[in-house]
Amino acid sequence: MIRGTPRMEHQPTSDAQLALMRSTVKDSAADRPGIYRMLSSEGEVLYVGKSKRVRSRLLSYFRCAYPEDKGARILRSADKIEWEYTPSEFAALLQELRLIKRFRPRYNVAMKRDARHYSFIKLTKGPAPKLIVVRGASGEDASIYYGPFVGAQRVGEAVRELNDAVMLRDCRTDLKMFFSDQTELFQILPRTPGCIRHEISKCLGPCVGGCSAAEYDERVALAKAFLDGSNDGPLEMLRVQMERLSAEMEYERAGVYRDKLERLEALRAQFGRLRFAVENLSFAYTVPGHDGEDRVYLIRRGVVRAELGKPKSSRDRRGMKQLVDDIFSSERKPTTTQIPTHEIDELLLLSSWFRRFPQEMKRTKQVS
Ligand code: SF4
Repeated sequence: MIRGTPRMEHQPTSDAQLALMRSTVKDSAADRPGIYRMLSSEGEVLYVGKSKRVRSRLLSYFRCAYPEDKGARILRSADKIEWEYTPSEFAALLQELRLIKRFRPRYNVAMKRDARHYSFIKLTKGPAPKLIVVRGASGEDASIYYGPFVGAQRVGEAVRELNDAVMLRDCRTDLKMFFSDQTELFQILPRTPGCIRHEISKCLGPCVGGCSAAEYDERVALAKAFLDGSNDGPLEMLRVQMERLSAEMEYERAGVYRDKLERLEALRAQFGRLRFAVENLSFAYTVPGHDGEDRVYLIRRGVVRAELGKPKSSRDRRGMKQLVDDIFSSERKPTTTQIPTHEIDELLLLSSWFRRFPQEMKRTKQVS
């Protein structure tokens, strides 16, 4: 149930309105876990927050000492506060994330900053996809993301090696591509590549008809298989080159390939750790709730797939078992590091929760 302060329509936030909001919080809010929303006079959700103790948290906004404090600024823009109780702090955290994704409140920059802290490898869309490293992952495009990773620079270097090894392009996304199997007359005219990578055998050259669309797609599939952890082909390619140069006593050039190999191996190791972390975030998590409102969260690959009250009867237990079977059945267990974009925020949130409160792992139970 949503509770809240009364709202004065179309009025700027005056001292009188602030006093009214404060007294409503003081009289009506309880010190228990929940989420709250600050709304403008037009009903825009300006900020969403969560707290273990909603009343104390809301009252703290009215004690902000300086007008430039974030809390004071939010309050001065807000005309109404609403709050809802949740069974636990964990439930509040999840609800806060969902509301932020739904309303995208302008004052909720913290979470966006959190996501930007990580980098992702993005496989772009279009006729000749390419791999790039990005900060944060946009939920608005349908590209594939791998990650999250820390250390954008190192990941960027490794992606460059991967691009070179499998000969994918790394040029401007909007550069026009001309595959060798395109049949339009004007496209068979000689063309100049947009960079030297094709000439030095580091790119198939889809900008100058250097490959067919299918040949390029094969290399994309190889890069994806490497990033998914199912194919070490790119590492093998570098190893073969390194050994050949070494056998030809070209030690300096062999050393360059050894460094490339090491960078790519480091990326694969980081993927391995990520896969391990993601797979480890798969269990049933029982959270004691306010007034006995205990909840069970079925978490698979770092995302809550179902949430239910703690079973109390054999009927409840049968229902939960059915859900567990549906969610954790083996065919629904990919081993890839490819995280759907819409799941990234929740994965980050859950991994940070269990990192902050490692003792919470004692409440989890493997169910697969
Ligand atoms: S050779 Fe052409 S397709 Fe390849 S990276 Fe350079 S400009 Fe892009």
